[in-house]
Amino acid sequence: MGGCIKKPEPQTVIEVNGGNGTTIDGMQPQSGITSPRRDLPPVPIVPSRPDALIVRALYDFDAITEEDLSFQKGDRLEVEETGQSCDWWVAVHLTNNKKGYIPSNYVTKDDNSPQAQDWWQDLDRKESDKQLLLPGNDPGTFLVRYSGDKQSYVLSVRDYDSKNHDASVKHYRIRTLDRGGFFISPRRTFNDMIELINKYSQQADGLCCRLVKVCPKERPLVHFREIEVSRESVKLLSKLGHGCFGEVWQGKWKNSVDCAVKMLKTGTMSPEAFLGEARIMHKLRHRKLVQLIAVCSTTEPIYIITELMCNGALLDYLRKNECSSSRLTLKNLVEIAAQVSEGMAYLENSNFVHRDLRAANILVGSNNTVKVADFGLARLISDEIYEAHENTKFPIKWTAPEAAFERKFSIKSDVWSFGVLLYEIITFGRVPYPGMTGNEVLHKVDRGYRMPKPNSPIECPDSYYEVMMLCWNQNIDARPTFAYLHSFFDDYFISVEPNYVG
Ligand code: ADP
Repeated sequence: MGGCIKKPEPQTVIEVNGGNGTTIDGMQPQSGITSPRRDLPPVPIVPSRPDALIVRALYDFDAITEEDLSFQKGDRLEVEETGQSCDWWVAVHLTNNKKGYIPSNYVTKDDNSPQAQDWWQDLDRKESDKQLLLPGNDPGTFLVRYSGDKQSYVLSVRDYDSKNHDASVKHYRIRTLDRGGFFISPRRTFNDMIELINKYSQQADGLCCRLVKVCPKERPLVHFREIEVSRESVKLLSKLGHGCFGEVWQGKWKNSVDCAVKMLKTGTMSPEAFLGEARIMHKLRHRKLVQLIAVCSTTEPIYIITELMCNGALLDYLRKNECSSSRLTLKNLVEIAAQVSEGMAYLENSNFVHRDLRAANILVGSNNTVKVADFGLARLISDEIYEAHENTKFPIKWTAPEAAFERKFSIKSDVWSFGVLLYEIITFGRVPYPGMTGNEVLHKVDRGYRMPKPNSPIECPDSYYEVMMLCWNQNIDARPTFAYLHSFFDDYFISVEPNYVG
């Protein structure tokens, strides 16, 4: 990725004389620019120790329980205890002196490092393009990130190409001086990155445009302190859907945290086994996994409380989208495949087997973002419900032969299911093996039958179909890894189909 960074042509970076003597302390945010660094609070309380850990809030946070400490973006806090859980710390507010729990993913160390600033985002080039090109961002929206090799920094700026009437993103490598300090053009150097950003916020100075607004960041999920929460603390608001194992509701926890609540039909699984598995699932954290946030498992029905995904299941999303005027393009569909394989590559790396990977178990958020859901649950479902034969809830058409016949579930049987999911994606949610019953599929597949290249609404490229076939290799070990599948789909239009015109 590092090799792809476009260096600005030296002659396009115009040197301006002198500057206006802006210093870090005297930095004034420009009109229209979200302050890269907030002013200090009016009456700061002196930290208790010189070596105290002082953090700054990246987002507003409203206390959920009486023990929590509310704060606003930019507030400074002194951390007293990082404790056993890395999710919650005890801190003192440096303006009002109140003390309480704070979510550690809402704050950053309060220093001048690039990573502690509002405009810092831990994204790669592709993801920063995606974030900057989201609707609602104007030219001049920017972020700073690591370069692909993590050896230097990159300033990524949204631009407007007036010739093509199109938005684009320009990437400028920020180089480090041997004696400390940073520059984009060697003719203009800065003592630190805040100074650099402040300067280019005043004038484009050779960049494609002036830096106008920090690229918005999605507010992270607040993790609950306890995995087991009381049923009374969860308010069910509206029914979102009905799955094989019960209803799913939109809910609010403690009147403040939006969530989805899956209510498992009584007898679906043992509460004890479930709580054990839930503890493992709770620790699995990745931006492409639907986060398990808490459970109510002391009595039935078991509630599984997860992150809320505003566009529901991928299967319904694809089916609805097929007839819409703004139908998803091959690029969008490949990006969905890339996101699913990214989430699955994380599970692969965590030695965790999903067991029920299919479009119904992928959930969709805003802007075609998708996340893998329901991982690990299938293992807990009582055997009589989950046997591999016709007329049960067992997803025969998605299951690898060795898993269906011998119950040999592995990350490689997940790869097989991913191949079937690729079929669902490219066909906008058609049922796989059309016209065949589950039993027919089971036996024909065992004898070597594979689905042909789908005759889909969007033409399925040969390279896409070839990967489906790789996933369905009878030889378990010859199936690709999810890490490979992720890089395949992530770079699909660069490495695999560079000449594709959509
Ligand atoms: P299935 O049994 O088909 O896997 P689920 O029980 O997981 O279905 O979910 C049923 C429906 O509820 C889904 O199709 C989806 O529309 C909705 N749903 C499930 N989980 C969530 C969530 N976290 N956010 C939003 N909607 C959800």
